[in-house]
Amino acid sequence: MRALLSTYDKTGVVPLARGLADAGWELTSSGGTARAIAEAGIPVTDVADLTGAPAILGHRVMTLHPKVHGGLLADRDDASHRADMEAHDIEGIDLLVSNLYPFGSDPADFTHGGSSGAIDLIDIGGPAMIRAGAKNHAHVAVVVDPADYDEVLAEVQADGAVSAATRRRLAAKAFATTAAYDTAIAAWFRAEVADDDGTAAEDPLPEVFEVRAEREPVALRYGENPHQQAALYRTDGADPWWGHITQHSGLALSYLNLYDADAAWLLAHDLAQATGQVACAIIKHANPCGAAVAATPAEAYASAFACDPRSAFGGIVALSVPIDADTVEHMVGAAQADVVIAPGYADGVVDALRAKRKNTRLLEAPAPTPDPLHVRPVSGGYLVQEPHRFVAPASSWRVVTERIPTEAELADAALAFRLCGWVTSNSIVLVKDGVAWGIGAGQQNRVEAGQIATAKADRRAAGGACASDAFYPFPDGVEAAAEAGVAVVVQPGGSVRDDEVTAKADELGLSMLFTGERHFLH
Ligand code: 5GP
Repeated sequence: MRALLSTYDKTGVVPLARGLADAGWELTSSGGTARAIAEAGIPVTDVADLTGAPAILGHRVMTLHPKVHGGLLADRDDASHRADMEAHDIEGIDLLVSNLYPFGSDPADFTHGGSSGAIDLIDIGGPAMIRAGAKNHAHVAVVVDPADYDEVLAEVQADGAVSAATRRRLAAKAFATTAAYDTAIAAWFRAEVADDDGTAAEDPLPEVFEVRAEREPVALRYGENPHQQAALYRTDGADPWWGHITQHSGLALSYLNLYDADAAWLLAHDLAQATGQVACAIIKHANPCGAAVAATPAEAYASAFACDPRSAFGGIVALSVPIDADTVEHMVGAAQADVVIAPGYADGVVDALRAKRKNTRLLEAPAPTPDPLHVRPVSGGYLVQEPHRFVAPASSWRVVTERIPTEAELADAALAFRLCGWVTSNSIVLVKDGVAWGIGAGQQNRVEAGQIATAKADRRAAGGACASDAFYPFPDGVEAAAEAGVAVVVQPGGSVRDDEVTAKADELGLSMLFTGERHFLH
């Protein structure tokens, strides 16, 4: 078995190479990667030895060679491919490990072989190999993310090879990665072109985005306000959760009920999926005014409600698991909800809730399915984007302060940052022990979002985490976090004043994490 390793980000590549070599695999690698592997005392051949051709054009052409692409693209079940391999002395490559030049980073920081500058930041050899291997995933495993190294190595150690299912999954990720990479390059070019000739950048999406809808919308009593007519349309081909609701009691669903129930349902499921716990979300005017994860629905609900009982009145409550009798006890003692939504209700629970809360709409619904596109109207058209999602795992976050967060603080930080992605910007969220205690939503500056979160939390997040949806542009936001008494601050980082902000966190004895990923929500 043969692996080809060509990585710009060399994180984890040496242990992976060692594991592969110990499993008897032959390793081939490009210049810098080969050096890193060889320096660790692991046998590796340079790709130039495989191709018999030196890197040319200042390294622009290094892996772009029939021996590499033949090895990646050969269908070993095809006799003519096998004959070509033999005739041209091509050896099959079973595993490709590659990640790309950091397009979008400062060209001044970039050198690779003889290359430097913005244009040379466009990786050609890497994507070509990734696409070739991913196309031929019937024979090749393509790993583009160091986070996948452990799983791939474990399969190799257990079975001597990477399974077909994993190869397929990795191929999907590989194409998603090269697609995103090319999208970034195209966006850069558009901006350059616009700069050059003073025109606006061209729209990368089709000129007319047609939102196809079902012919028969569901008429709603009224829209956001009683003098606005409204209806609910389903996108052609979509099968949304709200198409499968069982409504056990209460009034008909309104425009705003549906809007907020969607937000609540998505959030409860996202938190449950991310944490593996029971999640509860309470939404008011599109924003959470309570969110918590816990071992039981009763505990999750009670904690979410405790965040902001005043705002929870008339809110939308979503629970990720069926509602049991214990939860009902908390609910009937708490403020009335407009809508309760859950995957089910234990025996007697619907009757018990209906008896006490006759106007509350009790919904039973299947889990939400992700939409391929997020569409929102602007005058005379639509803005279309990929739906919001979290990409960078917490394991990739960087501690930038002297103080290192504890495991419990990290868990709170992960929940707080995730919640920020569900709160309109600017958002600050304070979490302690799996409960959001302070949610500052929709402010036009970060300090006031922090002040609102701090006031709402009223010291209940002390020792916990403070998350910010975008970077702190000034140290004052960190001061607001310290006033809440948190131990750790989590934010994307990337401000020109990161150093000042970090120094402030150090001065205040806080831990701070940079996620590298912004989560604006509008
Ligand atoms: P290394 O550090 O191993 O020398 O280079 C690894 C990087 O080079 C990876 O990011 C990979 O995508 C990229 N790469 C792969 N093939 C080629 C090629 O033919 N030319 C250049 N310039 N880079 C390549």
